[in-house]
Amino acid sequence: MPHPQAILLDGDQLAERLRGEMKADAAQLKARGIQPKMATVLVGDDPASASYVARKHADCAQIGIAVEDMRLPATIAADELLAVIAALNADASVHGFMVQLPLPAGLDGAAMLEAVRPDKDIDGLHPINLGRLLGGQPGILPCTPAAILTLLRAYDIPLAGAEVAIIGRGNLVGRPLAVLLSQRGIDATVTLLHSGSRDLAATTRRADIIISAAGLPNLIKTDMVKPGAAVIGVGISYVDGAMISDIAAGVANVAGWITPPHGSVGALTRAMLLKNLLQAAARQ
Ligand code: NAD
Repeated sequence: MPHPQAILLDGDQLAERLRGEMKADAAQLKARGIQPKMATVLVGDDPASASYVARKHADCAQIGIAVEDMRLPATIAADELLAVIAALNADASVHGFMVQLPLPAGLDGAAMLEAVRPDKDIDGLHPINLGRLLGGQPGILPCTPAAILTLLRAYDIPLAGAEVAIIGRGNLVGRPLAVLLSQRGIDATVTLLHSGSRDLAATTRRADIIISAAGLPNLIKTDMVKPGAAVIGVGISYVDGAMISDIAAGVANVAGWITPPHGSVGALTRAMLLKNLLQAAARQ
């Protein structure tokens, strides 16, 4: 029997709703005399990075978060960039900031992340915040894993005891997501698959939830998915200028829930960034 049409996991719509809620939170902070403010640091002129930063600014404008837009030349020296980060760490009017990655060649992204004050690290990627996640302690969650958890919860997709296959062990998505979903209280059984895994399909076929963050076009094919499973495409790649998801088109015919082909985690990821900012503003 064919599975009924998969439910679309509409992250864009959910992000719109969250921005509405955050607008009210920002108004409450302003009523207490706090103007929430975020800074973005963009080094060089990579067009993709510039467009990611522009979308963050547009979301801030909608919510009522002030923005400090720092643009630095690709030729900046590491110690000059570290000085910019130190100044933002010390600036009490800035509640959180992010250095847009990847950085131009010659600049060490990990070293720059480590220089950000952990309570202003709204990306949740500082080793202290990742360490807190690993230790099950409260901290700032990395944005894309937090976005995926928010999406799963918003659609009441059962997580406790669920078999989850995560594809990709990157520091931004797969690895912290595996830690998050296997935490006590969330209680998923997680398998983290990667480029060294022997047989992807053997694991994905028994999974209740598949989350692909590999960035390989059409990696997850219909015969790799258990009927009724929830399938989340995070990875994107470009083939002849067209954006292609990790999830092949036919998967929608077997999945129970599925993200749309253009992805649906990006807008939610930005919403998590700004949620982290508002929480940082409230704490500081
Ligand atoms: P990454 O390069 O760090 O990780 C990619 C992972 O894919 C690696 O761990 C690798 O082991 C795995 N992989 C590669 N080939 C594989 C194969 N054949 N089988 C199984 N696993 C394989 O990348 P990342 O920073 O973690 O990002 C992953 C993807 O998610 C990228 O496409 C990125 O563009 C996308 N992304 C989207 C968002 C969003 O908000 N929508 C946010 C972050 C990243």
